[in-house]
Amino acid sequence: MPRWLVFCAILCAPLGASERTILSIGAHAGDAELTTGAVLAAHKKLGDRIVLAHLSLGEGGNPKLPPRLYGEQKRREAREAAAALGAEVIFGPFKDGEVPNNDEARRWVAGLIRQVKPTHIFTHWRAGIHKDHIATHAVVVDAVLLASLEGYDTGHPPHRGVRGVYFAENWEDSEGFQPYLYFDVSDALAVWREAAVKYQFVRGGVVPFRYLDYYEGLARVRGAQASRRFAVACDVAPEAKKRVLGTLP
Ligand SMILES: [Zn+2]
Repeated sequence: MPRWLVFCAILCAPLGASERTILSIGAHAGDAELTTGAVLAAHKKLGDRIVLAHLSLGEGGNPKLPPRLYGEQKRREAREAAAALGAEVIFGPFKDGEVPNNDEARRWVAGLIRQVKPTHIFTHWRAGIHKDHIATHAVVVDAVLLASLEGYDTGHPPHRGVRGVYFAENWEDSEGFQPYLYFDVSDALAVWREAAVKYQFVRGGVVPFRYLDYYEGLARVRGAQASRRFAVACDVAPEAKKRVLGTLP
């Protein structure tokens, strides 16, 4: 067996009844659905609550439409994608290209975490080619801690129930990303595809990048690595890569 298979946790869908609330936070509408939508769909089937949060609409991403009009379109598409996944959707107050890595953003996300009360959070990996993604990573990681602190004021009670923070595999955030957790999404890919194509930029014709081909192909590759039909891989913080065992596995 390859060494990575021994050390890599393969998380399969049948985890049993639970009280999970999974919050997936992206910089732009579409990020969270493309990268984590299949995992969310798999957990929705298990009865978990799934929530999408888009810090900005990504309204600057269409060279043929002014941001105001494309923003309205993205908001509609995000609602349709969330409905297809069975997710709640929340929109942040930030502008495309201007997601700030500052205290204001940390306070907004900490307030979001306190209101949604997630048990698990997905967001962007720490490095890549889009500044909004990198800012979102830094803001979310800090906001998880801030949301837990009694003395940090957002107008909501502290939330200390986050069991894990996971970093999604995004084509723009590949620098230093290492697949660590593999989620079996073989039975969720059709729902993911149905949700993803609610966005025009995924269907094609907005920018040249072939989003659907890339993420479907990636799910096939990760699935092959995990001996599943389709899988989604995530990374975690280096300090979270620690396993404590009583005996050899
Ligand atoms: Zn993005």
